[in-house]
Amino acid sequence: MGKPTGFIEYLRELPLDRQAVERIRDWNEFHLHMDESKLRDQGSRCMDCGVPFCHTGSLLSGMASGCPINNLIPEWNDLVYRGLWKEALERLHKTNNFPEFTGRVCPAPCEGSCVLGINSPPVTIKNIECSIADKGWDEGWITAEPPAVRTGKKVAVVGSGPAGLCAAAQLNKAGHAVTVFERADRVGGLLMYGIPNMKLDKKEVVLRRIDMLAKEGVNFVTNTEVGKDYPVEKLRSEFDAVVLCLGATKPRDLSIEGRNLKGVHFAMEFLHGNTKALLDGRREGCFISAEGKDVMVIGGGDTGTDCVGTSMRHGCRSLVQVEILPQPPAERQPDNPWPEWPKVYRMDYGQEEAAAKFGADPRVYLTTAKKFEGDADGQVRAVHTVQVNWEKNDKGQFIPKEVAGTEQVRPAQLVLLAMGFLGPEQLILEKLGVERDPRSNARADYGKYATSVPGIFAAGDCRRGQSLVVWAFNEGRGAARECDRYLMGRTSLP
Ligand SMILES: Cc1cc2nc3c(=O)[nH]c(=O)nc-3n(C[C@H](O)[C@H](O)[C@H](O)COP(=O)(O)OP(=O)(O)OC[C@H]3O[C@@H](n4cnc5c(N)ncnc54)[C@H](O)[C@@H]3O)c2cc1C
Ligand code: SF4
Repeated sequence: MGKPTGFIEYLRELPLDRQAVERIRDWNEFHLHMDESKLRDQGSRCMDCGVPFCHTGSLLSGMASGCPINNLIPEWNDLVYRGLWKEALERLHKTNNFPEFTGRVCPAPCEGSCVLGINSPPVTIKNIECSIADKGWDEGWITAEPPAVRTGKKVAVVGSGPAGLCAAAQLNKAGHAVTVFERADRVGGLLMYGIPNMKLDKKEVVLRRIDMLAKEGVNFVTNTEVGKDYPVEKLRSEFDAVVLCLGATKPRDLSIEGRNLKGVHFAMEFLHGNTKALLDGRREGCFISAEGKDVMVIGGGDTGTDCVGTSMRHGCRSLVQVEILPQPPAERQPDNPWPEWPKVYRMDYGQEEAAAKFGADPRVYLTTAKKFEGDADGQVRAVHTVQVNWEKNDKGQFIPKEVAGTEQVRPAQLVLLAMGFLGPEQLILEKLGVERDPRSNARADYGKYATSVPGIFAAGDCRRGQSLVVWAFNEGRGAARECDRYLMGRTSLP
């Protein structure tokens, strides 16, 4: 701990974001950078506590508390304070393969459990992480490091999201020949086609790292769905082991009247088509425009927020985001104590942008859609909504009950369903004979990742259900370790 009084001398400070009204005119990242001296001051706010909860990564009340990949946060905070950036990068890479991704998109459960956060604003851990990684790239410190020795073993990773990329990076490091199969036309999973460009730049940030992995020897095969375009029998015979990182791509639907009207889409159809058009430089059949439309986003999570930010950039006429849960409180409640993840009201970037343009947070809480209304051409033109209260049923479960007299008809020519995901697609799991759990995920114990079929491992959202990039990192790294142990009888991977 370089500066014992840092947390007393300096207030928490983050770099400014670009102005909401300005940034909705383009697709560039909205976070600005902070100058180095300010970052050092922020690093000095870390108290190097006796028990640094920020890097514990445990689950409390079902949510991550502390960093799920156990980043060595107090160590690199101190190194940044002392201006030892290269050493900070080395510490960061010990636990995190791609800190430039988490530094941009992680919700930072580490900050929710920072000890300073008990009675002061926590250390700006995520921003410091991002700055270390960005400086590493700017200075040319991040270079290809292919393994010195190859083992002669071949591993297939199916799915190229954050779990697949971490698994591939680690297995390649261990000397195995790694091939990553991806059914999309570009590598990255939700890092590429889910999270929009303004949050995580595709060309500058995602592709740069993928190119580096390719230079290190990882082989990427795109436009190939295993189980359809590439037979599972071939996968088993060509490779010594397989790591499934398929994601949880089955969206939750809303089966109400009018669901089949034109203009009602799953969020991922909208987001995928948008990023594809941006990267291809042209709009094809899969592009869905929000321009000039009244948009309703159903679902208040990250995916919904990305639909809001994307619709704002298209130039929608109005926007409502419907959330069935109540608005969270402004501050932690007694049943949500530190170091749990604070369940408090936040304005994310998309809501900030809608508020800047339309004058208010677009979210309406305790509300659900009852019916989609169409015009003579079968195009949605309105959504009938109703308010709900959460009440206990006779089994003691909380369920939403409609409040009589609160029905409303809201204009909408575009409706985006962002209500979460139900698990992985089943075809490849069925064909491989991999057992599923009751939620239809690939069955494999956390920490072991071995499925019911010897030599096949599963990690990320297809094993744990829809989650976060940082958990996908944790599982991809863990599955690589167990796969290496299976292949070699022992492992030195963390
Ligand atoms: C819109 C959106 C925004 C999000 N924003 C955030 C955020 O800001 N921060 C955060 O931490 N988390 C966020 N998340 C969650 C996070 O992106 C996921 O938890 C994470 O990407 C899961 O990683 P994964 O590698 O398990 O799966 P994915 O990223 O889903 O990748 C799975 C890949 O497998 C491929 N695949 C599937 N089956 C096959 C097959 N048979 N053959 C070949 N390829 C196949 C798919 O095409 C896909 O590319 C967001 C999720 C969504 C949907
Ligand atoms: S990966 Fe997420 S939880 Fe871990 S240190 Fe970075 S921002 Fe915090």
